[in-house]
Amino acid sequence: NKVSPFLDPGPRTKANSLAILQLSRDNLLPVYLQPPTGEHDGYAEGAVVNTRYGSFPHSTMLNVPWGSQIRASKVDTGSRGRKRKRESGVDACREATGAGEKDDGKDNEDSAATAVNGESAPAVKQAVADTSGFIHILPPTPELWTTSLPHRTQVVYTPDYSYILHRIRARPGSVLIEAGAGSGSFTHASVRAVYNGYPTEGQRKGKVYSFEFHEQRYHKMKKELSDHGLDGLVQLTHRDVYSGGFLVDGKSPEADAVFLDLPAPWEALPNLSRRKPQTSLDTGDAAAENEQTEWVSPLNPKKSVYLCTFSPCIEQVTRTVSVMRRLGWVDIDMVEIANRKLHTSRERVGLNLNFDRGVNNSPRDVEEALARLEEIESRFREHAAKPRDGDEDMDSADEGDMQSSAKQSIATHGNPGPSADEGSSGTAPWMEGRLITRGEPEIKTHTSYLVFAVLPMEWSEGDEAAAAAKYPVGK
Ligand code: SAM
Repeated sequence: NKVSPFLDPGPRTKANSLAILQLSRDNLLPVYLQPPTGEHDGYAEGAVVNTRYGSFPHSTMLNVPWGSQIRASKVDTGSRGRKRKRESGVDACREATGAGEKDDGKDNEDSAATAVNGESAPAVKQAVADTSGFIHILPPTPELWTTSLPHRTQVVYTPDYSYILHRIRARPGSVLIEAGAGSGSFTHASVRAVYNGYPTEGQRKGKVYSFEFHEQRYHKMKKELSDHGLDGLVQLTHRDVYSGGFLVDGKSPEADAVFLDLPAPWEALPNLSRRKPQTSLDTGDAAAENEQTEWVSPLNPKKSVYLCTFSPCIEQVTRTVSVMRRLGWVDIDMVEIANRKLHTSRERVGLNLNFDRGVNNSPRDVEEALARLEEIESRFREHAAKPRDGDEDMDSADEGDMQSSAKQSIATHGNPGPSADEGSSGTAPWMEGRLITRGEPEIKTHTSYLVFAVLPMEWSEGDEAAAAAKYPVGK
């Protein structure tokens, strides 16, 4: 009963499991942590991650609480490192100042082993503690995976998939069909949405049935799902769903929800009917072709089914909607997500709190955090002791700032900060100053159009009789 780290990462990092290394705020690196089982790629320490912020042997990242800060270690990059240095003229690990990096001008030094052996490229290297740079180690989540995964295709991003999963009512115990799988971004989010642990008897187990017709992508995704411990919860099938439909081993997945990220979703829609699809939606005679032969529907017969298609062009939307109507889908509705990041902070002139400027400015440890807080508080005390004019200047300066960045700024909340009296009366420093909210300088525009629709449950005479017996009228 191995539970995927995406669903339950446990309190600490583990060997042979996925971790996400946060190098800086938006720079994430997925890594499968290796056990320290001897030499790996020339390093005595075992596997090592080399980044612009330093070198991080896997052994230093094992069995630590998620969220830990990991300090860089000195490791010898051996002949490969020297080659890179020669080629680029700089040390690979020192190309730029990064997350918490102290640019002390030192190279990543050759290890003790080099000195002892006197060899230019010793076969086995040793890592020793160093404090030049640091990263943070985070548990895998669909959101972090979406940001860091190896792209094989265009992917669905978090703002879109969170809304889609909500609208198609993906919830613990749901069965969801997805095509195509692509890079697996949506797959990871959807499996978390439908996961309901190991259900007791009679309970439906949440599951994702995923389809991909590109052979290489299918194999890569298959391996990824197994590496992520998700193979029991996602059943991936190598198939062209336009011609092959959505049954698995000849059986219906009985899906409650469907997501289609395909170039021509209208070609897959007939295979998502409750009855045998028409052979041609343009010319077919529905009455003649809709005889129920041995055709099996992939949908849950006991529920209305919720569908979303994801298409970049309005022409694709028009065609999809037209076919949806003819196949009996209702509540058809199109949405475009215009996601925008907002940065909210308190600002006072002459004071840079530095805590909300991204990972690069994060304090390295508790001592540094306390030192910065002390500095901030002493500057607040100085500021509060100044005559009232100073505060007024500050407010108008803030206003000027705001006007110059008016296009970016979407809101300034009416909190002008304390007067000199209030400042000295002990208001917490982090509550002082104007609350400023700024949007991203550029709004990310169109990703895709989301078309939602519902296929109602079929209502038979038997259902009517059962309902009448359950809810007798007038009794
Ligand atoms: N939703 C995915 C994600 O979030 O990573 C990305 C999907 S990608 C844009 C579209 C995928 O659909 C491609 O990998 C493509 O190979 C696959 N595809 C296209 N036509 C298909 C078909 N007829 N049957 C199955 N898969 C198909």
